[in-house]
Amino acid sequence: MDTIQEHSIAQALIEGCEEKVKKNKHRKVTEVIIKVGITSGIEPELLKTSFDTLKLKTVCHDTFLTINLQDIKVRCEKCGHELEIMKFIHTCPLCGSQDIKIIDGYDMQLLQVITK
Ligand SMILES: [Zn+2]
Repeated sequence: MDTIQEHSIAQALIEGCEEKVKKNKHRKVTEVIIKVGITSGIEPELLKTSFDTLKLKTVCHDTFLTINLQDIKVRCEKCGHELEIMKFIHTCPLCGSQDIKIIDGYDMQLLQVITK
């Protein structure tokens, strides 16, 4: 399985943490909370493994990585109806419009870095 994506995301997360620790004049990061969209293509388990491997000699050596999975969130551009779903839909269940826009669940977002 291809883990390059997860590996570079983990690397970027740790780099972000190092900056934050430096900025706050803290010594380490206790927890990192991220949100991973279910359509982002990121494997949470692989990301966790990569993170746990890369973190060892960094400010993140004690860090717990919390991954919140985010369902797909869509909005109907016609009636404004918003809903969370597991699989993309093409038609609004309320008004039948096909003007559906994905507004969440497609990427990864860093929510919180807790330093100490
Ligand atoms: Zn609608």
